[in-house]
Amino acid sequence: MVDESRDRELGMHSRITRRDFLNGVGLAVGASLVAAVDMTGQDKGPDRSARDALLEQGITPQDPRYAPPAQTGLRGNHPGSFEIAHQLRDGEFWESVGRPENTGENYDLIVVGGGISGLAAAHFYLRHAGARARVLLVDNHDDFGGHAVRNEFQVGKRMLLSNGGTQSIESPGEYSNVAKELLRELRIETQRFYKAYDRKLYSSLGTGCFFDRETFGEDRLVTGMGSKPWPEFLAQAPLPETVRRDIARVYTEKKDYLPGLSRSEKHARLAKISYADFLTKLCNVHPDALPFFQTYPADLFGVGIDAISALTCYAEGDDYGSFTYAGFDGMNLGELGTEEPYIFHFPDGNASIARLLVRSLIPDSIPGHTMEDIVTARADYSRLDLPGAPVRIRLNSTAVRVRHVGALESAKSVEVAYVRDGKLQSVEAKSCVLACYNSMIPYLCPELPETQKEALHFGVKVPYLYTHVAIQNWRVFQKLGIHHIVAPGSYHTYVALDFPVSLGEYKFPSNPDDPMVLFMLRSPCQPGLPRCDQYRVGRAELYSTHFSVIERKIRDQLDRMLGPAGFDPARDIAAITVNRWAHGYAYEYESLSDPHRQKNERPCVIGRQQFGRISIANSDAAGRAYTDAAIDEAHRAVQEVLRFT
Ligand SMILES: Cc1cc2nc3c(=O)[nH]c(=O)nc-3n(C[C@H](O)[C@H](O)[C@H](O)COP(=O)(O)OP(=O)(O)OC[C@H]3O[C@@H](n4cnc5c(N)ncnc54)[C@H](O)[C@@H]3O)c2cc1C
Repeated sequence: MVDESRDRELGMHSRITRRDFLNGVGLAVGASLVAAVDMTGQDKGPDRSARDALLEQGITPQDPRYAPPAQTGLRGNHPGSFEIAHQLRDGEFWESVGRPENTGENYDLIVVGGGISGLAAAHFYLRHAGARARVLLVDNHDDFGGHAVRNEFQVGKRMLLSNGGTQSIESPGEYSNVAKELLRELRIETQRFYKAYDRKLYSSLGTGCFFDRETFGEDRLVTGMGSKPWPEFLAQAPLPETVRRDIARVYTEKKDYLPGLSRSEKHARLAKISYADFLTKLCNVHPDALPFFQTYPADLFGVGIDAISALTCYAEGDDYGSFTYAGFDGMNLGELGTEEPYIFHFPDGNASIARLLVRSLIPDSIPGHTMEDIVTARADYSRLDLPGAPVRIRLNSTAVRVRHVGALESAKSVEVAYVRDGKLQSVEAKSCVLACYNSMIPYLCPELPETQKEALHFGVKVPYLYTHVAIQNWRVFQKLGIHHIVAPGSYHTYVALDFPVSLGEYKFPSNPDDPMVLFMLRSPCQPGLPRCDQYRVGRAELYSTHFSVIERKIRDQLDRMLGPAGFDPARDIAAITVNRWAHGYAYEYESLSDPHRQKNERPCVIGRQQFGRISIANSDAAGRAYTDAAIDEAHRAVQEVLRFT
């Protein structure tokens, strides 16, 4: 039941949140166009893609004003990007369509999937096959980059950037030579982030923990988490005395909870016990303390402490860079290696890598030459799919079938059928790289061997909401002395001021009076279920939740966390973009839920085998949710198909 007066307080009826900016020109498109939020606050009417909203205004992808990153509302796996794929999965697609119309196009390579892996595959292919090669990429979204997309906001005169998905280049020193070489070719010098990333800006600001009334009986924001001594921090928390004592104890007593075991025996034991069980069964922490810890691993694994092993938690070291997992200090589990700082962040995250790849593939599409000028360069989407161009990127196109033309052994080409604008079309190429999701591949290529299809179905991608909220200023964070908040019981369990990076002409809003982008993370899991089932339930939740419901949750949460310190959601929220990653991180193997397997016996390895002229890239093929994995898999897949040039 929607509470009208509460909605008004929260600003649910405010028009400014649905104001869109096309090419920097303010254009109030009204509530119904961007996110189908109806003005009475009722949650009715379907969500619609920003692309459809633009089309209704006569702005097509060929129009220079067409700028998907500037669209607010529901992004990521946006409406219009997944429906065909779901029909295919449910066996309903081919019932209602005839034969595809052959466009007559013939390529050397077709890549399905325009994420970093697909773009890198095109890059590697051209590098080896020569500039005369012709390559087509198809992707079902209205933007390129896959997870690596960019969010743009206009607040007053200021353009703010953020990463719609893929956040940072993590530990670039550990990238493979192949991935390092690609970064070099794109002129990315990671050393420059040491200057671009302002590590001092938040140094006086700490971590807050928001205890919500539904979980902890009272709404209260407590600051100083991880910086104040634990007993002092917990003294402010609305937790029973026994729970406070237990949390403080397990953080401070430095006890060996597995006495008598060797280090390797401890590792083996911790690999098979959840962190939740470690706390309650080995550390004797009261079960009522678990809600406080529940979402510690959510940012990396998309589930809580019930579904991740204690060993993995120990190996992660710290969470959000501020506080460690409790209980390991006295266990003599070995030294953790030192990691590179988490600073390798373009203002739009790794969308800059995707954009640099697009610029190298289609130089006319994005102006400039450097890793600095890519940040503010405007992409011209009308140039992505030009007839006759050696490389074409066809967006809003869902591949539905990939098969050899003729018998597998003797085929000279592959046919790819896809749906674009409701039309079923086909194109041909000498070979194909599938840089899409593993779980999609068996539907695209039903003739794959059964064992391979089973392996491709194995991993479930991790669902997330990566929400960005543009706010008028960030004075309230300065006042509270925090730059991020963990909120273990709330809808979004983590809230943070954006990464302080200034690069090229982009200057980070480093004055608290400046507008700012807040990052909010939700991992929609279902604690208690097996890990993959938690992801499935979460994905279903994301696909069935209307934008207006999420918007109300965002406003309510920010009001309850920050309202007492002066934040007013109706006044201070300028725009909201919810990046829905129903198919998010690649599935990663983890000791609690996965048996130990030799590397070559892993489902991702069995699943990625070459099938005639079809090869498989993408991060799922590595079982690792990282940019370098996407690049490495692209390189391998291209090596496989190069013999068909
Ligand atoms: C929210 C989020 C944050 C992340 N943060 C980081 C980070 O900070 N650092 C890091 O290293 N990694 C991060 N990752 C992981 C990283 O983004 C991925 O490993 C990498 O970008 C995946 O690239 P990809 O090309 O393999 O897949 P994707 O980016 O998923 O691209 C695959 C593309 O194929 C498309 N596709 C699927 N089926 C079809 C079809 N039938 N027809 C046409 N197109 C299709 C998909 O829609 C998608 O656009 C993050 C991932 C997510 C989801």
